[in-house]
Amino acid sequence: MKRRDFLKIGSAATGAMIVGGVTPAQGAEKAKLSTDLQVEGHVREPARKIPVVTSCDVLVAGAGPAGFAAAIAAAREGSDVILLEKNGFLGGLWTGGSVLPLNCMEARTANGWKQVVYGVADELAVKLKDMDMSIQPRRSPIVDPEATKHLMRQMVNEAGVRVLYFVQAAALTMSGDRIDSVIIESKSGRCAIKAKYFIDTTGDGDLFFWAGEKFRFVKHHIGAMWRVGNLKEDNAHGSMTPIPGVGLMHTNGEYDQDGLDLFNMSRLNDSLREYMWNKTQELRSKKGCEDAFLLETPPMLGVRVTRVLDSLRNVSMADALGKTTYDDVIGIAGVDIDAELGGVKHKVGDRPEWQIPLRALIPRKTPNLVVAGRCFGYEHDITYDAREIATCLVTGQAAGAAAAMALQGRTSIQNLDAKKVQSILRKQGVRI
Ligand SMILES: Cc1cc2nc3c(=O)[nH]c(=O)nc-3n(C[C@H](O)[C@H](O)[C@H](O)COP(=O)(O)OP(=O)(O)OC[C@H]3O[C@@H](n4cnc5c(N)ncnc54)[C@H](O)[C@@H]3O)c2cc1C
Repeated sequence: MKRRDFLKIGSAATGAMIVGGVTPAQGAEKAKLSTDLQVEGHVREPARKIPVVTSCDVLVAGAGPAGFAAAIAAAREGSDVILLEKNGFLGGLWTGGSVLPLNCMEARTANGWKQVVYGVADELAVKLKDMDMSIQPRRSPIVDPEATKHLMRQMVNEAGVRVLYFVQAAALTMSGDRIDSVIIESKSGRCAIKAKYFIDTTGDGDLFFWAGEKFRFVKHHIGAMWRVGNLKEDNAHGSMTPIPGVGLMHTNGEYDQDGLDLFNMSRLNDSLREYMWNKTQELRSKKGCEDAFLLETPPMLGVRVTRVLDSLRNVSMADALGKTTYDDVIGIAGVDIDAELGGVKHKVGDRPEWQIPLRALIPRKTPNLVVAGRCFGYEHDITYDAREIATCLVTGQAAGAAAAMALQGRTSIQNLDAKKVQSILRKQGVRI
């Protein structure tokens, strides 16, 4: 597989975008979570008391790259942090979707490549390299998913984060605009967890949707990445991973797909697993791949984008190209991929590193919610750069620092002093 196969997106890559925003009441009334889901009717759920099983300062929902970094950043600042994850491992799509290339740690300058992402992302990247669990055949390192899960688990444990696995955030309780608790579903039944501040790193903006914030809904292509074993190292049919003989394969999958429609996701899950099996069998006819086998289909399907927050300051490609600077910058994003969206192409060298303002993580009205990862506030044209893994680690760490700072200052997220957030981030090794 060629690198551009990972990265290229055709002009038909994204479907209709709908500027959304419904109140929780409207959401419940419509009883739908996404635009395409058809509703046949309604049943009435009886009101009931939900047991509060624990509480914390900062609750982080979703333990992908963004949630991982957010939880560590807040815990290192002294907050009591709970990290909720519906799967039994950390890393989200990075480890659970076999999305192994850690893109956008670097940017190309007139003087050559330079690393622009530091902080938690760099700590993890260095540890993986030291363990020989990342290789760099091209610009971005490709990591081993099990080593990544292992290190992420060690790092959140060391930071004192309380991680709850196999727990799905299912709803919110609110007092006015303020979130009081997250209702969770698990094998213990329906319970609630109270917190003072909340961080939405679900990737799909579940929390900001329930809180009634505005968002863009995006249909994108939904595909998959998977691992095959017994490849010859010198065989170029896939990207190799740090484990000898283990390679990575990829399909863009189907275009214009709704990643929140439960029926559609089941259909895609079935067809993509069939595809991964068949493609791996086909591979065996190629020289050097005769003994290849399907090592792992990923637990998570490759959902790229669904809901994107309408934040206090949505960043755009014009900002990146025009090198917009912000007083409230909280991180720098690297650029090491070509991108093509809606027929517009941007080569790596065309785009410099770009700044992310704190306001891009802040919703318009909920005073105790911060958003990070692939659903923070950005315009459609910068989708590809905004959701790469290094950038998710950057926005995650900033969201954690912001929540910890708001807690210390007893202030709303919207009234945060960005200078104080920046000073926490610098203390944590972030370069801004
Ligand atoms: C096919 C594909 C290829 C890609 N290729 C690359 C690449 O080569 N390099 C690169 O850098 N990026 C790539 N990306 C993008 C990158 O993988 C994602 O954008 C990134 O992982 C997003 O991180 P995140 O933390 O925002 O969300 P996610 O990784 O989606 O993590 C969200 C986490 O939240 C959990 N969660 C969700 N909802 C709930 C809930 N209600 N309750 C509890 N837990 C919940 C999920 O289980 C998950 O663990 C690719 C993406 C796809 C789909």
